Amino acid sequence: MIRSLTVLRRRVHRHARTLAAVLLAALALAGAAAWSLRTQPAEMSYSSFSRAMADGALAKVSVSDGGLSVVEKSGATAFVRLPTGLLDSAFLDRLAGAGVDVDLTRHDGDLLGVLGAVASALLMGAVAVVMALQLDLRGRLSWPAVVKSVPSRFSDVAGQDEPKAEVAEIVTFLKDPAAFARVGARPPHGVLLVGPPGTGKTLLARALAGEAGVAFMAVAGSEFSAALVGMSKNRVARLFREARRRAPCILFIDELDSIGKKRGAGASAADREYDTTLNQLLVEMDGFEASTGVIVVGATNRVDVLDPALLRPGRFDRQVHVGLPLIAGREAILAVHSAHKPFAADVDLLTIARGTPGFSGADLANLVNEAAVLAAREGASLVTAAHFEGARKKLLMGLERRSLVLDDEERRLVAVHEAGHALCATLLPAADRVQSATIVPHGGALGMVLRLPERDRICVPLDRLRADLVVAMGGRAAEEAVFGPDKVTTGAASDIAHATDLATRMVAEWGMSPKLGMARVELAAGELPAFAREEVRNIVADAYRAARAIVEDRRDLLDRLCEALLERETLNAQEVAEICGEPRPGEGTQAPQRVA
Ligand code: ADP
Ligand code: MG
Ligand code: ZN
Repeated sequence: MIRSLTVLRRRVHRHARTLAAVLLAALALAGAAAWSLRTQPAEMSYSSFSRAMADGALAKVSVSDGGLSVVEKSGATAFVRLPTGLLDSAFLDRLAGAGVDVDLTRHDGDLLGVLGAVASALLMGAVAVVMALQLDLRGRLSWPAVVKSVPSRFSDVAGQDEPKAEVAEIVTFLKDPAAFARVGARPPHGVLLVGPPGTGKTLLARALAGEAGVAFMAVAGSEFSAALVGMSKNRVARLFREARRRAPCILFIDELDSIGKKRGAGASAADREYDTTLNQLLVEMDGFEASTGVIVVGATNRVDVLDPALLRPGRFDRQVHVGLPLIAGREAILAVHSAHKPFAADVDLLTIARGTPGFSGADLANLVNEAAVLAAREGASLVTAAHFEGARKKLLMGLERRSLVLDDEERRLVAVHEAGHALCATLLPAADRVQSATIVPHGGALGMVLRLPERDRICVPLDRLRADLVVAMGGRAAEEAVFGPDKVTTGAASDIAHATDLATRMVAEWGMSPKLGMARVELAAGELPAFAREEVRNIVADAYRAARAIVEDRRDLLDRLCEALLERETLNAQEVAEICGEPRPGEGTQAPQRVA
């Protein structure tokens, strides 16, 4: 019921539009006619007029504003200004005597003038409206956005080698769909790119089209949340019609979750509308023949909220994970975005990559740009490492939760805790070196010690794991050493979780518990058996004791680190090393570690 009414309304609306367009066109024509009528004939001097009258060359005159409108026998028209008072009966007799047809009806120029003005205003209005209608029409026709030849290539997508390899087959298919058919291979249907924002999912989809040399159609899921009932379903149908027409092509649906969330969540009209839209999408994806050459690429960062029906065979049956880049990936992305930029010799992309854990590709592109902006603002001709550091600080600041303000006591607590982590990390030879320590809140953590390994984790030796555990316990150990056992806080929760996870894997997976030896420990009902739990507790307790020993032995260093943190909020690698008096060349093999 609701639906048919709306459809009707839409029809009326559409007809009204056509009618308006026709009316406006007619008005425009009328205006143009009035305009041309209004145009004044050339002026004729009185003497030429007299001569023409004497020669009998005049056909007709009519009284007009301040003179006469003259039509000569040749057909030419003119206007003659008459001295006031001349237009008397004698003059008219002379005219009649010369065989001129005299029309005494006054043709007021003013009326024509007003008409003309109105007409021109209407004309201009009409032109404006017609242009607007055309624009609107073009807007409707240009949805979805289609790029016939995409310049992006796989080489533009850095640090995502696995995702690239996984979609490479689609390029093969799009280039020669028949080759798939010949060997009876099932052609790919839909690919779902899953990953956090800014990791290059859109870029990868574009590159896919670019590599295959096919058209790229892009829409966002949010474009389907239309105001009018029944419309988004039609949009889906239209989209796929268009895709089939453009085949071979890539049909990219960004933010797939905003159209593909699980159905049947509610019973409101909007929910029903939503369900019909998603159903239409499912129907359309099923409707593809293997050979159509349309590949649907979806992107989302929430695969868990998608309706399971979307992930069935023949739909988005292939998932490609596009994750945050690791060090090497970050370096490669920086390299892509640094091409043709004037960098000073002290800019080392690997160092920058190490200092930017958790940055997405988009963040890194932004970093390069920010650094260049800083350089430009200073009028520098080269972008230096200092510009990069400034840009990095600025971007990190955006990630910091400045709104979370700690009071002095809390700040002191966080400083002691972080100083404990930093001290252990610095004094333990096997631990990854501290890259920075801060008491500025980041994400969910109040403070953070960032340690940066030289390489991403592939294979970690036991001494490094043990050191990692001690560093994790360093925060709580410092709290206890400084404030006493009754004053320890909840701040170590994530440290304890991390240490427990690590110790659990050491015991259960990596055969690192002397007591249990090298046997894999199976979970019973999702839990470690009691004897293994005991071992995990022992490993973590050992680490805690080691951490306590470090912070108590070097209480002087702990206090200095703590004061420096309170004063400067953030300490970099060098500052930490200087305070601890041990500039230690860093090396390590673990993944970037944040200890909160
Ligand atoms: P997503 O779609 O995953 O949110 P985008 O593809 O829109 O991310 O990425 C936004 C921008 O960030 C890209 O246009 C590009 O400049 C940069 N970028 C992101 N990932 C990468 C990458 N892997 N390689 C190079 N540039 C990247
Ligand atoms: Mg995107
Ligand atoms: Zn901590």
